[in-house]
Amino acid sequence: MTLSTADQSRLERFWQHCVTNQYFNIGYPESADFDYSQLHRFLRFSINNCGDWNEYSNYLLNSFDFEKDVMTYFSELFNIALEDSWGYVTNGGTEGNMFGCYLGRELFPDGTLYYSKDTHYSVAKIVKLLRIKCRAVESLANGEIDYDDLMAKITADQERHPIIFANIGTTLRGAVDNIATIQQRLQQAGIARHDYYLHADAALSGMILPFVDHPQPFSFADGIDSICVSGHKMIGSPIPCGIVVAKRKNVARISVEVDYILAHDKTISGSRNGHTPLMMWAALRSHSFADWRQRIHHSLEKAQYAVDRFQAAGIDAWRNENSITVVFPCPSQWIAKKYCLAISGDTAHLITTPHHHDNLMIDALIDEVITELETDAWRFGGAHVKQEGHERRPSHSARETCPRFDVI
Ligand SMILES: *Cc1c(COP(=O)(O)O)cnc(C)c1O
Repeated sequence: MTLSTADQSRLERFWQHCVTNQYFNIGYPESADFDYSQLHRFLRFSINNCGDWNEYSNYLLNSFDFEKDVMTYFSELFNIALEDSWGYVTNGGTEGNMFGCYLGRELFPDGTLYYSKDTHYSVAKIVKLLRIKCRAVESLANGEIDYDDLMAKITADQERHPIIFANIGTTLRGAVDNIATIQQRLQQAGIARHDYYLHADAALSGMILPFVDHPQPFSFADGIDSICVSGHKMIGSPIPCGIVVAKRKNVARISVEVDYILAHDKTISGSRNGHTPLMMWAALRSHSFADWRQRIHHSLEKAQYAVDRFQAAGIDAWRNENSITVVFPCPSQWIAKKYCLAISGDTAHLITTPHHHDNLMIDALIDEVITELETDAWRFGGAHVKQEGHERRPSHSARETCPRFDVI
């Protein structure tokens, strides 16, 4: 690579920026404490996993063997036999959600997709792209889907083939929709198991629940038809990625024969990243089940620590069971910006991902929120009144100008 001196120093500045901010993240659930240095040398190859890792491909630079190991791992984690499942390493949670919804729609072309209002915004793109009829369902106060409203809407729609989009850990409040309850309610309404599809969006918590003592239901044994997890969130990866696992019999419906690569393509994209399966493989091989348990336990403890500190100061912070997402009242825009927090309505959240080995950043953020509360006219709900000597802070309501993280 030949770069001009100016370009080289530009890269150098970006390098410094990345080094400085490597562990900045407390507002989004990305683990940053990974080390894939043993894989760096593979960046010199154009690795491409186009097609199905379970088949022969005449594109020799593929990492199919590693992808197979990754999928074996996740089929075990989510309680389905490898031969009954099929899935792949995706570009992230959104692609996994799209894959799940695609399978649901192929099974029930006229079915309506039901999702709670706390669902990740990607579902809005997905229903448009796939042209699925959809219905937003109310959420309960903790962010879980409102089961009564779900059933009321299914009944009102006279929907015989609902496609349920369940959250296993919502983005903003870490809430887990109870898929056992959903299925019970569907059964009570006379909708048989083979008449609905159940996709689980487990972008973050798919890598938490399998490792805790008392998880909410999340697996194929609990009745799901497909599940996706982001790879760059709890696991951690320099390139966004994820995994999706579905039932093999449903995937068979969407398989496309590609004669020139001698393979079947069942994935959403054509060419696929061949490096991320290597990363997922290395991450899963280098930590035992006990390591993951430990790592997740540590994050959950940090989350509880944050809740306790807020509450000790009289601030109404909380978290859902088995969640590393701590919800607290929206502070000023100044703090939200400084800590890159995601804000929704009048709440903010912090996420205790595993790279917070100590409490430094958690304490710094909580200290500032408490100080602001004590010294300012800051009120719960985010309204902010100008104070002299704080000219860097906005004089208007923080809520109006907070970087909003829209949920649909
Ligand atoms: C992050 C997230 C997604 C989207 O995942 P990407 O990997 O960013 O595409 C979907 N659903 C939930 C609940 C998420 O938290």
